[in-house]
Amino acid sequence: MSGVLSFLRNAQNEGSLKFYENRPLFELSSFGIGGPAAMIVYPLDAEALKRTAAEAFSSGTRSIVVGNATNLLFDDLGFDGMVISCASLKRVQYPYRTERDPDGREYIYAECGASLPQLVNTVSRGGITGFEGLCSVPATVGGAIVSNAGAFGCEISDKLLSFEVFEPRTGTTRNRTKRETRFSYRESGAVMPGEVILCALFAAEKGDPEEISERLFAAKKKRLASQPQGVRSAGSYFKRPDAGEGFIPFRGLSAGELIDRCGLKGLRVGGAEVSEKHANFIINKGGATCRDVLTLAERIRETVFMVTGVTLREEVRYIPYR
Ligand SMILES: Cc1cc2nc3c(=O)[nH]c(=O)nc-3n(C[C@H](O)[C@H](O)[C@H](O)COP(=O)(O)OP(=O)(O)OC[C@H]3O[C@@H](n4cnc5c(N)ncnc54)[C@H](O)[C@@H]3O)c2cc1C
Repeated sequence: MSGVLSFLRNAQNEGSLKFYENRPLFELSSFGIGGPAAMIVYPLDAEALKRTAAEAFSSGTRSIVVGNATNLLFDDLGFDGMVISCASLKRVQYPYRTERDPDGREYIYAECGASLPQLVNTVSRGGITGFEGLCSVPATVGGAIVSNAGAFGCEISDKLLSFEVFEPRTGTTRNRTKRETRFSYRESGAVMPGEVILCALFAAEKGDPEEISERLFAAKKKRLASQPQGVRSAGSYFKRPDAGEGFIPFRGLSAGELIDRCGLKGLRVGGAEVSEKHANFIINKGGATCRDVLTLAERIRETVFMVTGVTLREEVRYIPYR
């Protein structure tokens, strides 16, 4: 650990990153849950991000790369290693190149830590369409690619052409195309453990500005109407079940509908509660622990399985202490 710390101190002195020791992860996570991480590192540019990931790998330090930490449940004990945040790599560029792609579409470039609202605002202002459904997903571009984030009929992979990945094992940066990546519902296989998405290239068409504004408005309105606001959560806790799963009356229902049919809205363990507004949201009512959330999730899973025959699978990723 001491070699890593001296690397971090030197890099911080050079001005290429910021880092903190024993910093609580609840500050970082949208759930507001998590004990201290041994190190939280904020590389300030892509070179520093690569060097940090390479250092973690070569020193055998356990590490995790995070975006906005909106899909993560950190352990109450924290994380016994290095959390590398992409939050400082936020550049979105549109127009990006003067030429068009082979289908006549325009290019858009985004760094891994750019937020989806920022990406969607930039392209929509430029009259580009195809991203509107993602306007309120609180993800970064890197995190969204990893989980193929989507909303209202739109997925991050729809307009994605390629993304750059740094492989700490070989110290090389590779361009991965959408075609060679297996994007599916909330999955991508885009990275192997330890690899880092640095940036992404998208291509999309121009659209009618009025229709773009209408779609943005509709997406925001739908989210406000259907999801709890002003509370801490990690979004939908469980994935959408396969359409053919479960007893006949329950087939094809969403995770939220199944949980609701089981009468679990408002069920509470400690500070964690099943939202009254959207049953697939576990919310932190104040002081929730990771243990509360995991216990509540287990109760939901057991009840839903007994009543409906559907096995719910987590969308939220639990990050153990060690
Ligand atoms: C209020 C709320 C609403 C939400 N609504 C939606 C929704 O509508 N649709 C949806 O799909 N999701 C939704 N989510 C969930 C979440 O925003 C997505 O899963 C999102 O893709 C996570 O992005 P992130 O940047 O926060 O990634 P994180 O949570 O930080 O990380 C997620 C995973 O990606 C990895 N990762 C992150 N960045 C990188 C990188 N640069 N390189 C390599 N690996 C990386 C992490 O290691 C981790 O495995 C919601 C969450 C909240 C809190």
